[in-house]
Amino acid sequence: MVHQKKRFETEIIHTGYDSLEEQGSLVPPLFQTSTFTFSSAQEGEQRFCGESNGYIYSRLGNPTVRILTERIAALEQGEAALAFGSGMAAVSGTLFHLTKTGDHILCSQGIYGCTFGLLQLMKEKHQITHDFLSMDKEDELRSAIRDNTACLYIETPINPTMRLIDLEMVVKVAKEYNVPVVVDNTFSSPYLQQPLTLGCDYVIHSATKYIGGHGDVIAGLVIGRHEELGKMAMSTQKDIGGIISPFDAWLLLRGLKTLPVRIDRHCDNAGKIAKMLKQHLAVKKMYFPGDLDFPQHELAQKQMKRPGGMISFEINGNKEDAQAFLNACKLIKIAVSLGDAETLIQHPATMTHAVVPEEERLKMGITDNLIRLSVGLEAWEDIWDDLKQALDLMTPENTAYEMK
Ligand SMILES: *Cc1c(COP(=O)(O)O)cnc(C)c1O
Repeated sequence: MVHQKKRFETEIIHTGYDSLEEQGSLVPPLFQTSTFTFSSAQEGEQRFCGESNGYIYSRLGNPTVRILTERIAALEQGEAALAFGSGMAAVSGTLFHLTKTGDHILCSQGIYGCTFGLLQLMKEKHQITHDFLSMDKEDELRSAIRDNTACLYIETPINPTMRLIDLEMVVKVAKEYNVPVVVDNTFSSPYLQQPLTLGCDYVIHSATKYIGGHGDVIAGLVIGRHEELGKMAMSTQKDIGGIISPFDAWLLLRGLKTLPVRIDRHCDNAGKIAKMLKQHLAVKKMYFPGDLDFPQHELAQKQMKRPGGMISFEINGNKEDAQAFLNACKLIKIAVSLGDAETLIQHPATMTHAVVPEEERLKMGITDNLIRLSVGLEAWEDIWDDLKQALDLMTPENTAYEMK
């Protein structure tokens, strides 16, 4: 099928699949198979030496997975994509591909907790060092890039403080030094932000989050150039093996179809919740790119289609107060992860970023009273009612507070 480029909302439903090639099955079939048979020994030989195209074994490729990777590559406007068994397998696969012993990685000031853990491991085992940098000034970025810097590794918005990095500026500098730029685009999804179109080299997703969208899959994706991803498939997938299962790829294809509809609703809800949160006395600080007072509001408008569905906020008080607040939520579930239909709340200092030493954590802006909210798809009034009753308990005039 000759692929003719369509709009995002159409590609997300159709790209990479022609139902008439699969007996008219509207939904892509689930090829739940570990291996593929050859018609002859000679055909097997040809597949293995690359002379004939076709599937060999599901760690090397699977038709259901192929639909997913073709589709996500189109959505991120990349040449190719790889699917992994988790977001962390995608992160570690990419960093394994890009680095060797003695290299250096320059990271945004604030990254996912387990990515932080991975960097520690790479330093201890392979002497691959790293630095964190706010990346908000061009000259600082220039002087932080070293001869052995193998890549820039960036999250934007940064989890959980929602700080943004100006990708256009970073790409401009990175190109001068010929250093590839990797962006973990989990928080935005390709619907809100497409880093490859700004000149970045690799995009990573924890597909567990918005892409799956239903809280029932753990998976990761990497999108980039054909040649590089081909090499990465041979090392990190063929030989290291952290691949996605066909069933999980199938679930992601199902979840993906509604991504634009879901994200718009997440954004609508988050915008309304943020306005209410900001006015509540128990809320000390709020981090939401859609807030007019958010320091990088302008950059958010330039770089993202909409501000997303994630809000972080500090409440008045300490760690115990933050925990009491979480415990007081009823409809909202206490859980890490994000991007699900259910609104989820978590305490970064003791949960997602517990592995980050306190000093680093505070530099990232993760205080003991910081709370992260993944705004779900419920009626926003019900989400707010639940937050409000829990916040009311935290205000000084409330008797429950005085009794403590
Ligand atoms: C969840 C997450 C990851 C890790 O993904 P898993 O699917 O849990 O392995 C990486 N980066 C970000 C920003 C995440 O939120």
